[in-house]
Amino acid sequence: MMDSIADRLLATRAKIAAAGPQQVTLVAVAKTYPASDVEQALAAGQIVFGENRVQEAMAKYPPLRAHHANLELHLIGPLQTNKVKEAVATFDVIQTLDRPKLAAALATEFARTPKRPRLFVQVNTGAEPQKAGILPEAADAFIAECQNQHRLAIAGLMCIPPADEPPAPHFALLAEIAARNGLALLSMGMSADYETAVALGATHVRIGSAIFGARAPAPG
Ligand SMILES: *Cc1c(COP(=O)(O)O)cnc(C)c1O
Repeated sequence: MMDSIADRLLATRAKIAAAGPQQVTLVAVAKTYPASDVEQALAAGQIVFGENRVQEAMAKYPPLRAHHANLELHLIGPLQTNKVKEAVATFDVIQTLDRPKLAAALATEFARTPKRPRLFVQVNTGAEPQKAGILPEAADAFIAECQNQHRLAIAGLMCIPPADEPPAPHFALLAEIAARNGLALLSMGMSADYETAVALGATHVRIGSAIFGARAPAPG
């Protein structure tokens, strides 16, 4: 692509604004891209970023935060309980709370530290065996368990629809689960489908390749 990260951010923001009337937070997903690309986005006014690996974020963001105190970092990848301490210290938002053991580990860490990342519960709307997220039919009980048993404030829900299905029914299902649980925030929509997600009520879209360009294949 010949256009710059700044150009692509502008174009993406315009498409988001055209897709729905609500306020939408654009989470620029910078996984695998170097800090220099994040710097370019910051220079273009982007302050919210997403990463899917705790280790990568811990290496990349401290120097960036030193010059951009308002940078907001979201964890959008699976979180192992043995990384909870690092994740709580590193991220402002954790979008991938998806099982009781992780809820308990977060509650334990919150008892130790004043840092309180905002939490989203990830729902596996397609019930895909290989994918993280609580199953839709277990979501209500899990949200209640987080809130009542672990005293965790749940801000909203997140989903990643199956790659081979139309995303709209998954976005609608996520919105329905959020509404009946009184949750205001919906993280849904990626480069290929964010306009559909915004039309169905997304408050957060997670966009990587449409801003930073195609990623190299994931290692391993
Ligand atoms: C990589 C990733 C994205 C961004 O994907 P693009 O297709 O590059 O926009 C969004 N959400 C999650 C959970 C991801 O892992």
